[in-house]
Amino acid sequence: MFSAVKTAVNLWCPARPLFGFCFFDRAGLSVRPFLGRINREVSSLIDENRLLQCFIELAEVESPSGGERQVADLLRAGLGRLGLAVREDDAGRRSGGNAGNLVVRVPGRGEPLLLCAHMDTVGPCHGVRARVADGVVRSAGDTVLGGDDKAGIAAIIEMLTVLIEKDLPHPPLEIVFTIWEEGGLRGADLLDPALLTARYGYTLDSEGPPGTIVTRAPSQEKLVFTVKGRAAHAGVSPEEGINAIHAAARGVAAMQLGRLDFDTTANIGIISGGQAINIVPDTVRLEGETRSLAGEKRERQTRLMVEAMEAACAACGAGLEKEVTLMFRDFNLAPESRPVRTALTAMRELGLTPALLPSGGGSDANIFNGRGIACANLGIGMRKVHTTEEHILVSDLVQVARILVRIAAQAAGGDR
Ligand SMILES: [Zn+2]
Repeated sequence: MFSAVKTAVNLWCPARPLFGFCFFDRAGLSVRPFLGRINREVSSLIDENRLLQCFIELAEVESPSGGERQVADLLRAGLGRLGLAVREDDAGRRSGGNAGNLVVRVPGRGEPLLLCAHMDTVGPCHGVRARVADGVVRSAGDTVLGGDDKAGIAAIIEMLTVLIEKDLPHPPLEIVFTIWEEGGLRGADLLDPALLTARYGYTLDSEGPPGTIVTRAPSQEKLVFTVKGRAAHAGVSPEEGINAIHAAARGVAAMQLGRLDFDTTANIGIISGGQAINIVPDTVRLEGETRSLAGEKRERQTRLMVEAMEAACAACGAGLEKEVTLMFRDFNLAPESRPVRTALTAMRELGLTPALLPSGGGSDANIFNGRGIACANLGIGMRKVHTTEEHILVSDLVQVARILVRIAAQAAGGDR
């Protein structure tokens, strides 16, 4: 079912609905405005209908983590029509998914700039129908919208379209659309670092209005506990059993979970085990996480949770297997770092009041920072992400695209 806006755009651009790239056919657009003029012109450079159309097309293509093929193909086709070569890496094969990370390099002048957004979405994402009303894009209510992170992708596509069709100055751009960000940052983690030369950049993957610059994000450890009890008939000989669920419950009850302080959180998110109500359960598996903006606090919390589970299992006579895996590292960008400084200047020149904020979530920016690419995560206006109430303002979509065009101009202008 088409929204009113989508129908209008399709009528207006019947020949090429994909990405609304019909603007590309217009003649006489090769202008080279001076850098100083871009501020005044940037508002009119962004084509709201084209951007919205692009976003809706992306949102309505299902792309669960590991199943990004359709979106990757849509992007490859659209970027190809912009005259850009797209490289797809082998992260899909290595992760068991059906698409790899997409990498696009656009020659320019100055220091290379990385821009990244992820192609996958959380569920429910089957049959997304985007609806536009009163300047807000929502799903039909039975799925997520997928603005996390297709709003970021759409803004990057709009920026590329504007830079190319208006022949505007920009630095060498390294665009990465990752797979499998949700649930583990696997795509970014599998991306070959040799494909990137940029030393700074941005992921477009944070809540918060345009103008939000996430400069700090936590590290995360994954904890997996397997509690080993002993099976017995629950009615005939319970005294011969060791109840793994009971031991696990004691361990979890002894843990401090939730928000522990400003920097640190902890969670047990999955528990599974047992076979039947008349069998003393012999195995329970628990999965959880710890996060902190301060690595030593995360390490301490992980140790306390492990000790709580060890003590409970010992008290119950149960065995315990434990795995602790560092999923990603924290980052903390200084206000004078290149990505923060460039974004601050660009946003202020657009009349925004930027905000430097910490986040409790991980993103591909954690991976890039861990590899020496100073990478801030920008707020793109997505709201209530990971729920079926997810939505985004059209005006925020437009504002993010404006910010990107301004950042490109700023970066090409030799700002250091
Ligand atoms: Zn995201």
